[in-house]
Parts: sequence; structure tokens; C-alpha cells
Amino acid sequence: MALSGGGEVQMKTSADSGKMPDERPGRTDWHVHIGAFADAYYRAEDVFGALRAAGTTEVWFSSTTSGFGLRIGGKPAGAGAVYRYIRGEMRDALAAAERTGMKAHALYWVMPEVHCAPDAPVRLARAMEELPYEGFKLHPSGNAWDWDDSAVERLADEVFAFAGERGMRVVVHCGPDPTERPAVFERFVARHPGATVQLAHCRPLKETCQMLRKHPNTVCDTAFAAKATQVAIRAFGLGNRMVHGTDFPATHWYANRETPPTGTVPAMDLAEFAMRTGGDGWEEE
Ligand SMILES: [Zn+2]
Repeated sequence: MALSGGGEVQMKTSADSGKMPDERPGRTDWHVHIGAFADAYYRAEDVFGALRAAGTTEVWFSSTTSGFGLRIGGKPAGAGAVYRYIRGEMRDALAAAERTGMKAHALYWVMPEVHCAPDAPVRLARAMEELPYEGFKLHPSGNAWDWDDSAVERLADEVFAFAGERGMRVVVHCGPDPTERPAVFERFVARHPGATVQLAHCRPLKETCQMLRKHPNTVCDTAFAAKATQVAIRAFGLGNRMVHGTDFPATHWYANRETPPTGTVPAMDLAEFAMRTGGDGWEEE
């Protein structure tokens, strides 16, 4: 099914299928975003509203604005300006969560571009005091995580140590790229057993399962994970270590990538997408 364009057709499909949104109480989505994604912008209020309408009542979220380097609205900006802008987005998002009746947990998306800059505007511990963050998000390929750089290595260790001392969550983006394989994070996971480390996307599958078996302080999430991958993880007896995550609304962007959205994505488009996909925000192609 073509997912780009033809919004009216998609709406019809949803209505015809008679699929009801998931109304199970307490449905949690452990992998959600707000903010800029390429040239599109997803307002927190619209993201939470759409997920809420589709039956999600609790989210763990971060701002994807952080994953596109030192830019604001597509234009280059300084480390301090970017830091403050994203802090504002996250503060507004927490207020939007209150208004939409969404229980929301904010994750601080750590940018080495900010913390390892010569004019670093803020220290990690200080950033964590500025908002009621409940954990971190790391994205090695979205940001400049150069593992050969000792400053970057120190920053990562500081993140896991901070989380470990407080029993916080660290969501790590994982993939086949050598800079972001699950095993890349193993030294930190092992050194800081008090941190709960969420291996996003379950990929690569084998390495994800090896980490889950070896380190009790790890879980994986189902964001963009194929159904077959999820079945395999359950078959390996690791189903209780897998949490529901969607990567919403990045899913909306990818579903429309042939004509990528620009500017603020209308609330109704987002709501329709969430409803049609039953809150998962994703349909396998
Ligand atoms: Zn994500």
C-alpha cells in the first residue's frame, strides 16, 4: 500500500476496516518524539493528542530537533542557542502533556555537539536539573558520537554514571552501523548496572539478544522492529525484556518520505495516521 499522499484514501481505509483504537488502560509507548524531523515539525501537543486519541496514555519522549546537529529551523546556530531552544521545546511539551491528559516522561537527548563544544553552554548534571528529566536518549549516527574522541567517550560514561546512580533510563538508538551497534554500549551497560538501558529497534537481532541475555539491566524496544523480529525475541524467551515503542511521529515522516512533509504537520494528519495504525504509528510494507 502506498503511504505517501492520498490522505483521503487512507481515512476511508481506516473507517472501512472498523478497527478500533486500542483502549487498554495504561498503554505505554516507550519511544516517542516531538520537535523537528528533517524539514517537518511535530508539535508536542499534536503528537500527544494523536497518540492519546489512539489509546496511548503514557509516553517516554525526547526531541528529535536534537538529532539534526547545531541547527534551529534548518539554519546553523550556536551550541548555547540550540541547547536553550530544545530546553524550551521540552518544557512546552511537558505542559502540553498536562493539557492533553498524557502521562509523559522527558528524556534528555544528549548532543556531543553541545557538551563537547569548546564553548559548552552547560554541563550535563546542570542540564538535568533544568527540567524534570527522567533519563537520556543517545543517537550515535544522528549526532557526532566519535568513539575515538576521549571527550565523547567521557561524556557517554558521565551519562550512564548519572543514570546508574539514580536508576534512570538510557534509550540508545541501535542499528547495524559500527558506531551504534548494541555492543558499542556494552562497556557502559556493564560499568553502570543501576541504569536501565533500552536498546531501541532490536537491531541487529542477534547482538540485541546477546546483550539482553548477558546484562539484566537491558531491555529492547519494538520501534521500527519487524513483526518477525518481535516474534523471534519472544521465541528466544526474551519477550518480557521487550517494551512497546513506536518512534512516533518519525513513523509519519517515513510513511510520507516520497514527498516529505515540510513545516508544522497538521494535527489532524497526525491524528488520522495514529488512529489508522492503531497507535503503533507504523505499518509494515
Ligand atoms: Zn527514535
